[in-house]
Amino acid sequence: MTTLEEQTRSILKAHEQDLLSVISKIHATPELSGKEIQACAWQAELLSAWGFSVETGYKGLATAFNATAGQNKPHICFMAEYDALPGIGHGCGHNLIVGVALGAGVVLKNLLAHHHLPGRVTVMGTPAEEQRGAKIDLIKAGALKDVDLVLMAHPSDNATAPYAGESGIRQFMVSFTGKTAHAADCPEKGVNALDALRLLFNGVDAWRQQLTETSRVHGVIRDGGQAPNIIPDFARAEFYLRDFDLNFLDQMQIRFENIAKGAALMTDTALKFSEIPNPYKPGIPNDPLNQLFFSLARDAGMQPKWPEPSRGSSDFGDVTYEVPAMHAYFNITQNNPDIIIHSKEFAQAAATDFAFSQMKKTARILTQIAWQFLTEPDFRNKVQSAFPFDRQTIDPHT
Ligand SMILES: [Zn+2]
Repeated sequence: MTTLEEQTRSILKAHEQDLLSVISKIHATPELSGKEIQACAWQAELLSAWGFSVETGYKGLATAFNATAGQNKPHICFMAEYDALPGIGHGCGHNLIVGVALGAGVVLKNLLAHHHLPGRVTVMGTPAEEQRGAKIDLIKAGALKDVDLVLMAHPSDNATAPYAGESGIRQFMVSFTGKTAHAADCPEKGVNALDALRLLFNGVDAWRQQLTETSRVHGVIRDGGQAPNIIPDFARAEFYLRDFDLNFLDQMQIRFENIAKGAALMTDTALKFSEIPNPYKPGIPNDPLNQLFFSLARDAGMQPKWPEPSRGSSDFGDVTYEVPAMHAYFNITQNNPDIIIHSKEFAQAAATDFAFSQMKKTARILTQIAWQFLTEPDFRNKVQSAFPFDRQTIDPHT
């Protein structure tokens, strides 16, 4: 009788070559957010060959997919992301997220079949994390309605770590419209939209001192006028507002809009204030999932650390409002401080033997967490009790 650990290793080993071939192809063929056509097709093909029933174009998103196997409850979902970054390829290492999600998916599918257990495993392909936040579109379309647990893991330049959550983000385009005039001959006939934009930035800077430590406000000028001798009749800025607290983000949004209104009033310009889809909610950690990840990663020799919540933002945050979920991190840089995420060096690190070894360890850990959720009611109850919103209790036999 082999142990679960041995079964996990041998199932992963049996599928490793196919898996490495797909993630190497994805790494060598970086596709931008929403354009991950080949990455989606390669994953769908492999999951289909492994016996998953696969739907591409999932919930109307061209490069999303859903691959599912088994039946009944509990229903575990491993999430994959596979978009790359302009100019630096897989500088966020999303090819390795694919490796963890598909690796954990195929192992759990085979374990369920081997042990004749009820339960369902899904690998969900979620595109466009870097730009549009397709997880939010998928959630709105009901993709997580009957899912009981979501697990994902992302490569990192920091230590291997459980999920401490991250900032929520709201994105805005603010534009002011005025009137052109010759800037030297008749400036009094113009209405200067760039003045309004400068006052917006000044207003934000005055506000910044009174913001909490957890807040971030940052903007860039998208349009600032055509030429020095023309009073600008149009100016536009793009701003991001971030915080860990969803209610405080509401307050920040009101204040930011008021600053923009004030800038328009002071300059007699017309304001257009619009929110860019999709806002991301701040992620909520699940302690029992985190504790188990931490101890399994320590046992696997990955030297995990407890992290601070991330100041960045991810569409995974919204997942944590739907279902108990964890977005873990695994180090792929051997703690080399010169390799920073979102760089060409990180893209290179995402295709090394060390990265693949960390990816496989992480896939086994996520499988183990899913297995405990499926087979140990005590652990499942703890995870569900730590989820702060209402959700139906799972009976594995219905
Ligand atoms: Zn990423």
